[in-house]
Amino acid sequence: MADLKTDVRYIKGVGEQRAKALAKLGVHTLRDLISWFPRRYEDRTETRRIADLVPGETACVAAMAASPPTVSHIRKGLDLVKVRAVDGTGTLDVTFFNQSWLKNSLRMGETYVFFGRAEGNLLRRRMANPVVEPEGRREATGRIVPVYPLTAGVSQLVLSRSVRQGLDACADILPDVLPDEVRREHQLCHIGFAYENIHFPADSQALDLARRRLAFEELFLFTLGLRRLRQRREKAAVEPFRPVDMGEFYGALPFFLTGAQRRCVEEALADMASGRPMNRLCQGDVGSGKTMVAAACAFFCVKNGRQAALMAPTEILARQHYEGLAPLMEPLGVRCALLTGSNTAREKRALAAALAEGEIDFILGTHALITGGVEYKRLGLVITDEQHRFGVGQRAALAGKGDHPHTLVMSATPIPRTLALILYGDLDVSVIDQLPPGRRPVQTSLVDSGYHPRIYKFLRKLIGEGRQAYIVCPAVSEGEEGGDDRKAVTEYAAQLQREVFPDLRVAYVHGKMKPREKDAVMAAFAARETDILVSTTVIEVGVDVPNAAVMVVENAERFGLSQLHQLRGRVGRGEWQSYCVLVSDNRSEETRRRLKVMTQTADGFKIAEEDLRLRGPGDFFGQRQHGLPGLRVADIGCDAQLLREAQAAADALLARDPGLEGCPAAAERVEELFTGAAVTFS
Ligand code: ADP
Ligand code: MG
Repeated sequence: MADLKTDVRYIKGVGEQRAKALAKLGVHTLRDLISWFPRRYEDRTETRRIADLVPGETACVAAMAASPPTVSHIRKGLDLVKVRAVDGTGTLDVTFFNQSWLKNSLRMGETYVFFGRAEGNLLRRRMANPVVEPEGRREATGRIVPVYPLTAGVSQLVLSRSVRQGLDACADILPDVLPDEVRREHQLCHIGFAYENIHFPADSQALDLARRRLAFEELFLFTLGLRRLRQRREKAAVEPFRPVDMGEFYGALPFFLTGAQRRCVEEALADMASGRPMNRLCQGDVGSGKTMVAAACAFFCVKNGRQAALMAPTEILARQHYEGLAPLMEPLGVRCALLTGSNTAREKRALAAALAEGEIDFILGTHALITGGVEYKRLGLVITDEQHRFGVGQRAALAGKGDHPHTLVMSATPIPRTLALILYGDLDVSVIDQLPPGRRPVQTSLVDSGYHPRIYKFLRKLIGEGRQAYIVCPAVSEGEEGGDDRKAVTEYAAQLQREVFPDLRVAYVHGKMKPREKDAVMAAFAARETDILVSTTVIEVGVDVPNAAVMVVENAERFGLSQLHQLRGRVGRGEWQSYCVLVSDNRSEETRRRLKVMTQTADGFKIAEEDLRLRGPGDFFGQRQHGLPGLRVADIGCDAQLLREAQAAADALLARDPGLEGCPAAAERVEELFTGAAVTFS
């Protein structure tokens, strides 16, 4: 008898071969398989008349083959089958590439259903490579068809057949995580119906019901998880931190903290002195000075005899924090160290030993801080920088080290209020709503590529004045011609060096370089050994080189607004007037409007809201990047009403049954979603 953890290879009709293909998608168990939800659907239910086909639109037509199919051999590897189809309203010319067997299966005088993208004009309509089947035996049309996210080697057909087998195998064993009364109260369909219809919708109404139920379930479990994190924290009592003479720290800074920075520090210090574990989000626009807030908290913690850890999402950032903070903190008696993936095994062992012995007070690093083997002697504070890059799970994993350490999460992603409540439902929030004094807004302009000569001249002038420049190229998507980020960046850098700036120092950095190489390039740029840095978005997060005063963004239309805002935040960090030049040849009205937003405001919150409005929250955080466990169907922006319902239902359930004893299926699922394999809570 199968259960949801059964390996897919043992599912009847799946077998070794398909299991191997599925593994590439990360689908290993029966649960993975039935939870591999379609990315979208094609509604192939409605049939149009040929005369009603709109060029550019995808549709079904039922039409009779009015000619015998013809085959022509165009060249090696390219055969065409052509057939003319008619209905009472017009003629459709249908072409198939390399499917010569169709010659024998399409018969003149028979009626077929064609599903594809209509082309041509009002007089002559065409379809290339449509799905085709006899009108009397419809399988691939006449229904709503799921379209799955794929990887090489797995076709839609293999997936949908495997899912079919999976659903059949577990029809009777799907545990319903929603208690019956919740289901009744919120009019949610049965779990079996939901899984069946999310994959193979009977009709659009059934699909809506399925989607609503699954989205509700996700939000419900998610809320339960957040509430449990919070409960656990609130129950925990920790020794309150004592007051510390912070003047010693402030006196060592080269500047005064802004009022907003001070307020955030005070809020965090008050939390840590409260006797309950702190769980605070410090949100501040790029350049608002979050690092010093983190440093102040670390200082406070260390002076209380506890260790502090700061986790950054990239090696570049971790190193930058270390290099910025160690010289400040060491003289104050705070022993600092850096731990990243590029430390040798031996160095890691030594660092781990020093941490366990309590010989390090403040450890900075990447997620190496949470992976195996690292134990702390008396961890008191965990800070994560740029939190949206880390999942709730990772955040929890670090917080799970030691005995209820305080946690501070720093984020530059300005998150609209509604979303903040969901994303950080378990956190208290401080906002740094003020920039350090003397900052001038980055002058931003939008131009087309015809301006390149002028841009280069402008770069030359600024570099002549001692400044440095970033040139950002978008990631190239796979399958695109010459599609390779590395190539885009290295070739552009080489071309600039050769043809435009032979006398200047041009360097490049991209995501596929080894961390060490990246660090070396960044370090050289920070040390002013480079004039122009060509890069992908690896510099997007947090990099701080105040002397860089201009950023050129090529193909700016490829970036989301929030991402552009993060990128632009790399300049304008020093005393000089800074510039951002967005280059785009995309003339579409929508793109122009979107990019114009950048030239009109520097306010990260406004930009984020605009971004959210234009793109929807899925994209806003990037697929799966939001790090929210288990949200696949629910769309946290669009399902706001459903979220409120699910939250209310979760709270009501917890009020009745705080330990979830009455719903073991839900309790188990929450535990699974909120804990990485290596971490346990309780
Ligand atoms: P972010 O919030 O983007 O992480 P950082 O902490 O990197 O910002 O700070 C941006 C820059 O501003 C750094 O060069 C930092 O040294 C400087 N800075 C931070 N706080 C102040 C302040 N109160 N006055 C002047 N400069 C500051
Ligand atoms: Mg930062």
